[in-house]
Amino acid sequence: HFTNLPQIPTDEPFAVNGSYIKDTHPKKVNLGIGVYRTNKGDPWPLRVVEDAEKAIYNAQDISRHEYLSIQGDREFLRLAADLVFDFDSTQSCAGTTHSSLGRVTSIQTVSGTGANRLGAEFLTRNISPRNVWIPAPTWANHHTIWDLAGVPRKEYPYYNNATGEFNYEETLQTLRTSSSKNDILVLHACAHNPTGADPSREQWEGILDLCKEKGLIPFFDLAYQGFASGDVGKDGWAIRRFFEEGGIEFVVAQSFSKNFGLYGQRVGALHVVSSSSAAQGVSEDILATLCHLVRGEYSMAPRGGAEIVRRVLGNKELRARWAEDLDTMSTRILSMRKALFEELVALGTPGDWGHVVKQDGLANNDLVNESNVRYVAMAIDDVVRT
Ligand code: PMP
Repeated sequence: HFTNLPQIPTDEPFAVNGSYIKDTHPKKVNLGIGVYRTNKGDPWPLRVVEDAEKAIYNAQDISRHEYLSIQGDREFLRLAADLVFDFDSTQSCAGTTHSSLGRVTSIQTVSGTGANRLGAEFLTRNISPRNVWIPAPTWANHHTIWDLAGVPRKEYPYYNNATGEFNYEETLQTLRTSSSKNDILVLHACAHNPTGADPSREQWEGILDLCKEKGLIPFFDLAYQGFASGDVGKDGWAIRRFFEEGGIEFVVAQSFSKNFGLYGQRVGALHVVSSSSAAQGVSEDILATLCHLVRGEYSMAPRGGAEIVRRVLGNKELRARWAEDLDTMSTRILSMRKALFEELVALGTPGDWGHVVKQDGLANNDLVNESNVRYVAMAIDDVVRT
């Protein structure tokens, strides 16, 4: 009974955050949790999000708290899928026709985590993969999600500690020799968490070829589109390339937590991509399968945050302002990386710190700001020397 529950492994990011909250040290700095903060260390609701929220309230739509369909807000999903796949341009490149009702089947999820979880459940039940391949290291929740799905986890050697880069050769060699057809390959679409090191475009081509050769199913985790570089096209490049290729099935777990600053609103989508040769009717079956899983779990994803995203992505002017907000965030993160790098160099901290500026994204430097960067550098220096 309840007194005999098995021991549960701790979730590290949330455990570190818990210790941070309890700690009474006056100069404490939280480098554990992936959220954006201003230079003063405060949360930052995006300006465009605040305006969209006001507009939603002012419209006094009496339906605004009604249930969504199981699939979710369809206009939100159309815009979310277009943000990922850029249908107009990928369509012209590939010379084929596809729409969100053709090769891509989308369903609203409880943010990126929910999309990862639903995608894992969908693949486990329908593809029966022998293994799931996750990068070492990776976002800690990938372990939990795939354990809950009951698929044996294997790791591929993602990170080269010596160079601070993606370990392309060993990754390919491991997968080439040890993976089997229908295995799942978890990939971070951009701003790999926690390393910030991504494959180059050439290396993505190699990964794509390998997936086709071995019959692997890529599972893109897209948690930082536009947030990593400030450019949604650049951050979505790998997924768009796999999409254009056509002859490969894959899934994308999309989160709006970081790029819209909507962390607690739980806004996301799962996109299931069929190969271009698959019959048109396949999308309906995929959607029915996904809806069945969602219905039995929580009936439908929440609507408030998705409505904000829909308003912004669906309006040219608001979208341009979103781009400005993305730029504000990504520029600040880059400048803090640079400041941290410079402090470490000034302190003469042993080691090569070039990767701090070479890598991308949020991981572990989001709460660094002008007033604590020196202190953080000194703390790192201290640890490295002891
Ligand atoms: N995947 C990765 C790699 C992440 O870093 C995160 C956020 N930390 C997520 C997925 C999902 O976050 P959320 O559920 O808040 O969208």
